[in-house]
Amino acid sequence: MRDIANFVNGQALVGASGRYGDVFNPNTGEVQARVQFATDAEIDAAVQAAAKAQIGWAATNPQRRARVMFEFKRLIERDMNALAEILSSEHGKVIADSKGDIQRGLEVIEFACGIPHILKGEYTEGAGPGIDVYSMRQPLGVVAGITPFNFPAMIPMWMFGVAIAVGNTFILKPSEKDPTVPVKLAELMMEAGAPEGVLNVIHGDKSAVDAILTHPDIKAVSFVGSSDIAHYVYQTGTAHGKRVQAMGGAKNHGLVLPDADLDQVVKDLSGAAFGSAGERCMALPVVVPVGQKTADELRERLVAEIETLHVGISTDPAAHYGPVVSAQHRTKIADYIQIGVDEGAELVVDGRDFSLQGFEMGFFIGPSLFDGVKKGMKTYQEEIFGPVLQMVRAESFEEAIALPSEHQYGNGVAIFTRNGRAAREFAQRVNVGMVGINVPIPVPVAYHTFGGWKRSAFGDTNQHGVEGVKFYTKVKTVTARWPEGDVEDSAFVIPTMK
Ligand code: NAD
Repeated sequence: MRDIANFVNGQALVGASGRYGDVFNPNTGEVQARVQFATDAEIDAAVQAAAKAQIGWAATNPQRRARVMFEFKRLIERDMNALAEILSSEHGKVIADSKGDIQRGLEVIEFACGIPHILKGEYTEGAGPGIDVYSMRQPLGVVAGITPFNFPAMIPMWMFGVAIAVGNTFILKPSEKDPTVPVKLAELMMEAGAPEGVLNVIHGDKSAVDAILTHPDIKAVSFVGSSDIAHYVYQTGTAHGKRVQAMGGAKNHGLVLPDADLDQVVKDLSGAAFGSAGERCMALPVVVPVGQKTADELRERLVAEIETLHVGISTDPAAHYGPVVSAQHRTKIADYIQIGVDEGAELVVDGRDFSLQGFEMGFFIGPSLFDGVKKGMKTYQEEIFGPVLQMVRAESFEEAIALPSEHQYGNGVAIFTRNGRAAREFAQRVNVGMVGINVPIPVPVAYHTFGGWKRSAFGDTNQHGVEGVKFYTKVKTVTARWPEGDVEDSAFVIPTMK
C-alpha cells in the first residue's frame, strides 16, 4: 500500500501518529493509498520551518519571487498530464475536467507572476510642508490554507499562489480524500526555486485543522469547504487572533426567462448541473424557469438531454462525468433523492440505480431531475453536492429573483435571457456574490475575485485577485518629514491640514 507523507521543509516527513486516512480510487471503490495524518508536533515542526523560511523569503525582492512563480507555472504545464491523471484517480472527475481544475489554479499563479506591480504602494508627495506619505503592503508571516476535496489543485493554488508571492510562507492542509496532487504542487514549488519551508503540506482531519486554528505562530487561515465547518473555522480562528476567510457551501440557482435561448440553456444546465458529478460549489443544481410554458418546454428538453449523458470512469474520454468521491457521499446523495420524493417533489429522472458494467463497486450515480420542488423543502434548502437538478417553477421575475436572494447560501447565480435590461436589473438586485448572465458557472477570472455571500462565506475578503493580496498582507503607512530651516515649536494639538 502506498503511503502519502507530509511535506515539510522541502522533504517528505514520514508521520509518527499511526493515524491514516484511506484514499480511494472512486472508479473501482478500492483503497489505493493511505495518507499519514500529522501529529501536533509535526504540524508545529512545519510551522517552525515556515517561520524560519519566511524571513529570507520576505526579504527576497518581489521580482525574484515572481520568477519562482513563472517557473512553477512552466513546471505544472510540463507535468499537466501526469497531474491530471493522479487527480482524476483520487477524485473521480474526468481527465479533461482535472486539467481544468489545474488550469484554473494556474491562472492564479499567472496573476501572482505580476506581484511586483500589484504590491506597489501608494505615495503622496507634499502632503504637508516637507511631508510625504507612502504606504506599503507587508506579508503577515506564516499563513495556512485548509482545502476541500472537490478542487485539489485549483483551491490550494488560489491560496498559496497569492500568499507566497507577497512574501508569506505557507502551511497547506489539503483534503484527506485526494491529497497526492497538493503534495506534488509543493514538490514542484521547490523545484521551481522556492526555498525549503516556503510551502509545506500537512495531512489530517479535524485534529490537524484545530492545531492550525490554535497555533500562535500562524497569522491567517484561508478555508474552503462546507458551511458548518467554515463557520467553525471562522469562529475558532478569529477567537485565536487570526485573520480568517472561510468559504462554505452553495446552492446556485439558474433563472430561465421566457425569452432565453432554450437550446443553449439546456446545454449549459446539463454541464453545470452534472459536470464533475455536481461536486462543484459553482454547480447549478437549481433551475427556475419563469412561466409554465418555459418550464414545460425546458423539462422536456432536459429529459432528452439527460438521456444523452454518458457516465463513465474518469479516464474514459467519452464520459461526461465520473464517479463521486466516496461511497459515503454516494449514499448521502441517494438519501437526499429519497427525501425529495418523500417530501412531494416529482422525480422525473432517477439516477440511483445506475451501475457501470465492470465497475460495479465504483461510486457512480446517474443524473437525476426533480420537478415541482418547493421553497420549504429540505432538499431545496440544503446542498446535495451531487448530479441532481431541481426545478422550482416561478410565475414571475419577482418570484424567481426572490428564490436565490432569500436562500441561506449565496455563492453563485445565473440568469438566462435575451433581455439586457432584465439581466442588468437581476445582477444589481440579486442577493448573491457571483452572478452569471448567460454564463452558467460564473467563476470569476483570477485577476478578479472569488467569494460568495451569506452562509457561503464567512469573513470579509475574497479569494485571489486584489482581495487575495489584501487578505495576505497588512498595510503600513509612513508619514515622513524633512524639515527645512529653523526648529519649530512643539505641537500640543493634533496636526491637521487646515
Ligand atoms: P469539508 O467541509 O468536509 O472539508 C473541508 C476541509 O475541512 C477538509 O480539509 C477537511 O479535512 C476539513 N474538515 C473536515 N471535517 C472537519 C471538522 N469537523 N472540523 C474541522 N475541519 C474539518 O468539505 P468537502 O466535502 O471536502 O468539500 C465540499 C464542500 O466544499 C461543499 O460544501 C462545497 O460547496 C464546498 N466548497 C466551497 C467552495 C467555495 O468557494 N465556496 C469551493 C469548493 C467547495
